[in-house]
Amino acid sequence: MSPQIYINGKYYSKEDAKISVYDHGLLYGDGVFEGMRTYSGNVFRLVEHIDRLYESARAILLTIPMSKQEMIDAVNNTVKLSGLTDSYIRLVITRGAGSLGLDPNRTSDPQVIIIVDLIALYDRKYYDEGLKIITASTIRNHPAALSPRIKSLNYLNNIMAKIEGLQAGCMEAIMLNHKGEVAECTGDNIFIVKKGQLMTPPTDAGILEGITRNAILELARELKIPASESTLTRHDLLVADECFLTGSAAEVIPVVSIDSRPIGDGKVGKTTRFLMGEFKKLVVR
Ligand code: PMP
Repeated sequence: MSPQIYINGKYYSKEDAKISVYDHGLLYGDGVFEGMRTYSGNVFRLVEHIDRLYESARAILLTIPMSKQEMIDAVNNTVKLSGLTDSYIRLVITRGAGSLGLDPNRTSDPQVIIIVDLIALYDRKYYDEGLKIITASTIRNHPAALSPRIKSLNYLNNIMAKIEGLQAGCMEAIMLNHKGEVAECTGDNIFIVKKGQLMTPPTDAGILEGITRNAILELARELKIPASESTLTRHDLLVADECFLTGSAAEVIPVVSIDSRPIGDGKVGKTTRFLMGEFKKLVVR
């Protein structure tokens, strides 16, 4: 049981997995990626992740040199070889090595990299006690500059907001969009609960359409919890009864304070707890 890394059809240990320093993924953040989880050896929502990966690649005119089915098989095989049953998978496609200069036509050999390892994004205590987060002053990328729906290797927009959070002693930060509406967090989507109703920003708020987010919306429908994709402002968050974040790495994590102001009664909400439990059941279904 050890991290396993696939690069273009070959398998490597963590120490031996290497790519060129001329790769435009490194030089310019030119590439796309996915982050997934396995539960009891099965990749959660693998097809949805692969679909999103191919959409991201298409959006940046990057041709992935294998079919979706071959990619699915490669992911499953790398998981199997790792021997890890509850793991995190980072699937990366770079533009490949080329000459210096932005021109993607001067690259060849896009690299297909699959890393299967462990991840612990947030300390366990935050799942019990909830996160305290802030609103970052860095806004999310304007969708006309680079669509936040593309999961690209260029995460500096999010990293700058993450740094603001960390400097304020917070593990996550809320990012507003260019209209001042709530978009998402730096690596997670955001939900609130107000009067028993679940709400999360719509994709046209300029967010990554999270696969965990969509799973929560589906769960809510199944469990007859009213849920909607609604435009939210910072005001809506501050007067919400509950708040939580979702992401493949984070799963479902409660938020109890935003900008030093308690959300609801400042404790992990009832609906949030319930959904955390239901999500746990869903991932092993
Ligand atoms: N938003 C951003 C910016 C992300 O990077 C991620 C993934 N880490 C998410 C939301 C959550 O998406 P998913 O549930 O598909 O992991």
